[in-house]
Amino acid sequence: MIAIISLLGALAMPTLDLPTGPTPDPVPIPHFPDRLHAFVWRNWQLVPAERMARVVGAHSADIVALGRSMGLQGPPRISADQFRRSHVTIIRRNWHLLPYEQLMDLLGWTREELAFALREDDFLYVKLGNLKPRCDRLVYAPPNSDARRRAAHIAAIIKEELPAGVGATREPLFRFVRQLSSKPATPASPVSTNMSPRFCYSYFGLYGDPLLDPKSDPYPEGYLARLAAAGVDGVWLQGVLSKLTLFPWQPELSEGYEKRIANLRRLVARAKRHGIKVFLYLNEPRAMPNRFFADHPELRGVTEGDFTTLCTSVAEVRSYLVNAVAAISRAVPDLGGFFTITASENLTNCWSHFGGAACPRCSQRPAADVITDVNRAFAEGVRAANGKQMLIAWDWGWPDEWAEDAIHGLPQECALMSVSEWDLPINRGGIATSVGEYSLSAVGPGPRARRHWEIARRRGLRTLAKIQAAATWEMSAMPYVPAVRLTAQHAANLRSLDLSGLMLGWTLGGYPSPNLDVVREVASGKGVDEALEAVARARYGPVAAAPVVAAWSAISEGFAEFPYHVGVVYTAPLQAGPSNLLFAKPTGYRATMVGIGYDDLNSWRAVYPPEVFYRQLRKVADGFTQGARILRGAAQEADQTHRGAVEAEARVAEASALHFRSVAAQSEFILLRSGANATESVHRRLRELLFEEKSIAKELYNLQIQDSRIGFEATNQYYYVPCDLAEKVLNCRWLLGDIEIR
Ligand SMILES: [Zn+2]
Repeated sequence: MIAIISLLGALAMPTLDLPTGPTPDPVPIPHFPDRLHAFVWRNWQLVPAERMARVVGAHSADIVALGRSMGLQGPPRISADQFRRSHVTIIRRNWHLLPYEQLMDLLGWTREELAFALREDDFLYVKLGNLKPRCDRLVYAPPNSDARRRAAHIAAIIKEELPAGVGATREPLFRFVRQLSSKPATPASPVSTNMSPRFCYSYFGLYGDPLLDPKSDPYPEGYLARLAAAGVDGVWLQGVLSKLTLFPWQPELSEGYEKRIANLRRLVARAKRHGIKVFLYLNEPRAMPNRFFADHPELRGVTEGDFTTLCTSVAEVRSYLVNAVAAISRAVPDLGGFFTITASENLTNCWSHFGGAACPRCSQRPAADVITDVNRAFAEGVRAANGKQMLIAWDWGWPDEWAEDAIHGLPQECALMSVSEWDLPINRGGIATSVGEYSLSAVGPGPRARRHWEIARRRGLRTLAKIQAAATWEMSAMPYVPAVRLTAQHAANLRSLDLSGLMLGWTLGGYPSPNLDVVREVASGKGVDEALEAVARARYGPVAAAPVVAAWSAISEGFAEFPYHVGVVYTAPLQAGPSNLLFAKPTGYRATMVGIGYDDLNSWRAVYPPEVFYRQLRKVADGFTQGARILRGAAQEADQTHRGAVEAEARVAEASALHFRSVAAQSEFILLRSGANATESVHRRLRELLFEEKSIAKELYNLQIQDSRIGFEATNQYYYVPCDLAEKVLNCRWLLGDIEIR
């Protein structure tokens, strides 16, 4: 399984076509009068009415009237910035509604732009299921009397279920970007720790070319200050060598590299003022389109589809890596350093995707030697520049057979980073399994990291751990998972092993959270309880501190029941939560990777029997609910200055609980739905579950309209918006038989 990763992947892309794959029928949407009504509903809060109108050949007024006929308020104003930040959210919701042509029109993109995003933007097409449901062109026609009657019925349901109204939000979507970008009230006070760097990724970074496009600055000033205050002393972004230095064989590929370097230098200087170092993620050398090798046959390595590796067993290629890293290190002397992935993600060295046997040179060498060459070339680059940049080799993807030799091959100045929780044995609900990664519920380190660190230590190398301190694919729809005690315990375990530093998370978890705070406190020498107390006191005041710690503990206890399996975290609708719709009959769709869960319970539950799966999720939800209750109580007691902060903490706990509870209810619904000859008691239980789901959707709706952070994650953008939760209410009412059947 690959790490989910967003990459500036394109070098010289071959001409891109829209991906073709299976074209099944879209999933049914019987709770709407027709596809046009679904289209207007689902895009109401994300796409200006004018644009929707253009796509379906209507006037804005027609679209607005159609939305209002279903009881929608507004439409809200949609800023250019919001639209730019939500293309993934828009594509996902229209995937079953519009054909490609109209999708492009809706986004205002060319065919190439859509093709590029689907292929390159963090596995988007994979997340959408490697298929495109067959949709006819959607054309506006004035609703007939039947559709009008049904729309009026929807409006009546909305008025009854969500009397505050649907369509406008108290807090606009993406408001948090402005909040996080503003200067914090209290500046960071420096702490001394033995664990440094502690680095993370931007909470709201956009896919693309942030060093060239000033509009998509992933690290605005205020946000850096807030990260520093949360104890973060490093941030990372992608570095593609040919985009940051002159690519020797095809210099035109590097267009704009001077500007990127200048902007990198500026970012590094800005971050430095906050005590934060900038790290570049290297996954190099990037493979080149096959046609490149017509002029450079001597560099050719392994071919995979349209791309072929630049073989690092060729001296010229290694020199390129040395020179490129040297050039960056020289041009940006204050750059914190680099970390590398050498056996995963993009096709890079000939063994990077385990296919080195197809290279005439690399097939003659152990894979570990090839990996070693790459890391050594980077180290040599830093050395050649007399640089002080740190070089971190990440063992991600190294098979056990390679690891020992690959670690032995690392240059002395190189540090080794390992995923802390990897291979950790766990038992959840009586099912024994082990952790892959992306687990916050399991407290590492596990045996793999311990083994690799030990080998590195014997050589005197520095060691780092990669953890998910604040958010994971177990729950990424919240700014952080307030299981703060688990994070504190993990950090304490690592400190006792004398780790030099921590990567605080992959592309998720960069919100300035209490979890990051507690890592800093533990790193500075405090015990777990003392650290929790200090963070709670600083954030929520002396009155609320003790109950907040109690809430974090209850949440941590609940979260430790999470039915972890890599299949669960990638396919169960943990992120879409209550917005994932229910279906009366099986859709036949397979759940996609962190994308659309459909009703594919068998994928969701992975190794867990269905009953164990949903019971464990209910235990998790109970822990979060208990924590939320304590927090609500604490908010009432808290002093005026801190009340808002405690309430916000309670919202995150409540919203998380609703996600887990909803996935449990959905799972049980799907299990019971398929029972042949359903008894009356099964029928009754199905109705109970529909009522539960409806009420969960409403509760989450009421939380999301007041907190723009809920439902958002950087690479998937908004998993849902309030209108989707209101749609779930309609969906449940339909299934309860309350919407008349056509
Ligand atoms: Zn090779």
